[in-house]
Amino acid sequence: MNNDNNMKTILVVDDVPVNIQLLSTYLSSEGYTIISAKDGQHALDMVYENTPDLVLLDVMMPKINGFEVCKKLKSSEDTKFIPVIMLTALNDLENKIKGMDSGADDFITKPFNRMELLARVRSLLRIKYLHDELQKKIIELQSTKEELRQLSITDGLTGLYNYRYFKEQFTQEISRALRHALNVSLIMIDIDHFKNFNDQNGHPAGDRVLQELGSLLKSNIRNIDMAARYGGEEFTLILIETDKNSALVVAEKIRKLIETNKFHHEEKQPLGKITISSGLSTFPEDGHDFSTLVEKADQRLYRAKQAGRNILFADS
Ligand code: GH3
Ligand code: MG
Ligand code: MG
Repeated sequence: MNNDNNMKTILVVDDVPVNIQLLSTYLSSEGYTIISAKDGQHALDMVYENTPDLVLLDVMMPKINGFEVCKKLKSSEDTKFIPVIMLTALNDLENKIKGMDSGADDFITKPFNRMELLARVRSLLRIKYLHDELQKKIIELQSTKEELRQLSITDGLTGLYNYRYFKEQFTQEISRALRHALNVSLIMIDIDHFKNFNDQNGHPAGDRVLQELGSLLKSNIRNIDMAARYGGEEFTLILIETDKNSALVVAEKIRKLIETNKFHHEEKQPLGKITISSGLSTFPEDGHDFSTLVEKADQRLYRAKQAGRNILFADS
């Protein structure tokens, strides 16, 4: 007796109790767990309740016959991979064809031959096992693929999206805004005197500022908007369906938030605190493509730096 068989459940469906008994005797001697049903509806209920590994299905039954049960099982996503062996009368070609059409995987003719019955059951259970293993691998692969995708679009230090994803999303949002005649705004942010911060406090302390600032950005925009680390100590915010005036309000709120937030060691900064400068651009008035809009925002950011930092520019 194969011990693995204990794990396998076979549903035997027949309206004649003595047939169920005989099949059960044969199969349980091999260690399979047997459950049974005496008609079609009962069989369907048993499948949904117990998800057996295989179904032995009599064709001739009152009410719902074997073909209909088989069709039902094979047309549902949850049950279509459970192998079905149909029990037909010897040389009943017509029923075999109907059985095939209803999706049966194999046939056993009455009177049963024990060896043949067990061989067919083993063979289908082996295929079912391989199928289940394959399904598991596919699910594993899909989740690995998703993890890889997440890694490839995430900045390792801050957990924000990286430049690659920012570019992809902003390009997409520009096209969407163009199609639906919407606005979309971009805020480019650069930390003021950050080199000084590193020089004074060390690179690891600088990293912690980047992390804290990143999470402040993320938690102070709407869910539909997006924060990304553009590179180094530069960040971008994409504000969906937002015109320049509304974007200005957001940019000013963020500037103030960073100015007032207490960062560790910030008192040694030239302005006495960690601050940011920003440049803003808006589709469509500042440009119609990724490069132009980024360039515009970058030029304004540069002007904010020249104007003394801790400030934002949104025009010309
Ligand atoms: P400005 O106000 O003109 O922006 O001055 P700044 O010092 O911020 O600008 P600059 O471009 O001269 O220096 C950028 C600094 O940002 C230098 C670099 O060491 C630091 N930096 C860039 N990436 C990282 C990082 O991942 N971690 C840390 N700790 N520092 C970084
Ligand atoms: Mg910079
Ligand atoms: Mg800087």
